[in-house]
Amino acid sequence: MSFTSLGLSPAILKALSEKGYENPSPIQEQAIPAVLAGKDVMAAAQTGTGKTAGFTLPILEILSNGNKAKPNQARSLILTPTRELAAQIAVNVETYSKYLSLSSTVVFGGVKINPQMMRLRQGADIVIATPGRLLDLFNQKAIRFDQLEVLVLDEADRMLDMGFLRDIKKILSFLPKQRQNLLFSATFSDDIHDLARGLVNNPVEISVTPKNSATELVSQLVYPVDKKKKPELLTQLIKDNNWQQVLVFMKTKHGANKLTKILESADIKAAAIHGNKSQGARTKALANFKDGSISVLVATDIAARGIDIDQLPQVVNFELPNVPEDYVHRIGRTGRAGSSGHAVSLVSADEIDLLNDIQHVMQKFIPREVYEGFAPFNDLPESRKLRPIKAKRAKKTTSSFEHKDGQRSADNARGHKPKSKNPGHKVGSSPQNRTTRKPKPQDGGAKDPYSASR
Ligand code: AMP
Repeated sequence: MSFTSLGLSPAILKALSEKGYENPSPIQEQAIPAVLAGKDVMAAAQTGTGKTAGFTLPILEILSNGNKAKPNQARSLILTPTRELAAQIAVNVETYSKYLSLSSTVVFGGVKINPQMMRLRQGADIVIATPGRLLDLFNQKAIRFDQLEVLVLDEADRMLDMGFLRDIKKILSFLPKQRQNLLFSATFSDDIHDLARGLVNNPVEISVTPKNSATELVSQLVYPVDKKKKPELLTQLIKDNNWQQVLVFMKTKHGANKLTKILESADIKAAAIHGNKSQGARTKALANFKDGSISVLVATDIAARGIDIDQLPQVVNFELPNVPEDYVHRIGRTGRAGSSGHAVSLVSADEIDLLNDIQHVMQKFIPREVYEGFAPFNDLPESRKLRPIKAKRAKKTTSSFEHKDGQRSADNARGHKPKSKNPGHKVGSSPQNRTTRKPKPQDGGAKDPYSASR
């Protein structure tokens, strides 16, 4: 199938051909006609499948046929969990709409609000936003939605994981009832289904990857290694393989900073990217990584969302994530849109449960290989046998303070014991019992509820 047969106008086709896209990806083949037909869409698609163009292209087509946005109005709203993803989508929108007379703007926290307010004054046909900053702008009357035609929730699972449910519900209450809704999510938990129920209307359901399966194009390998030897093994791997562009995942910001220093002391050009870094520092690190002036980007899970680098060849899990689905997201950073990639995980004996959970979610074993000179003193235990995934029982929607199993809350991450395990913990002091508005995860930087852990 070609893009021409999908009903996109010559102006969009020209931009696509300049970008070098020859054929639509599977998600684009399915999503573009559905969106053009005015349908609501609920799509299960991981990053790397081309989902951004899957919703952006038909939205541009629809918007190019209507009246322009009036001052302070938005005709379409794309909500994303992170600043990086928002910025990335904005670049895509600009590229694809190069030959159209549509206006777009991106708004997110961590940077001054005034320039964003100024830009919104003229109105924008496409607004890309993180939820917290969008609410601030709405409260300051900088944005209105009377003209809104299309809403996109991108990476909805991640938005819920980051505690944005309440903000999303508030935003939905400001939008006109008559609108088209597109929901994209890598995974479909009960919570996402709950959210979708109140959002999409008789949607076209699209799934381009089996639930939670890892990208097939990515070759995966586990290096069993002692915890202490991990920095040395990583340094060795980078040097032996002459890796020029490698994204390394850490669980904590502190760990990311520490590892970056170790790599630098081994003459490897590296930078850390995480929620405690200013927006300027994050943008610079990403730009340096993209242009090759640094070869290693050490990232926490949330900061890494939205990093889009064409054909990123190598991903390293320096530590396995607590949430198995994060592993799938991580390795999705390589092997993007048809190119092959490699993901290696440095796994110490104490991480066997995390490895088992990941293999369970993927329903496959990751091959193991001992790297010469790094045979672990503490053997990595055998993997648990794969058991079929059971259908989950329906559960109540979690509050925006709660996290999924295995994921640490900010309090936990700061070293506090969970309330149930801490007899000294006073009732009434938990975040659930506070009456103040919760901090905004992406927009406050240091206020991020994940700030201690990501
Ligand atoms: P996404 O899943 O939206 O993050 O896209 C992943 C990558 O695939 C991005 O680098 C896009 O520029 C690229 N891409 C999207 N659609 C196509 C296409 N039809 N052909 C080639 N590359 C594409």
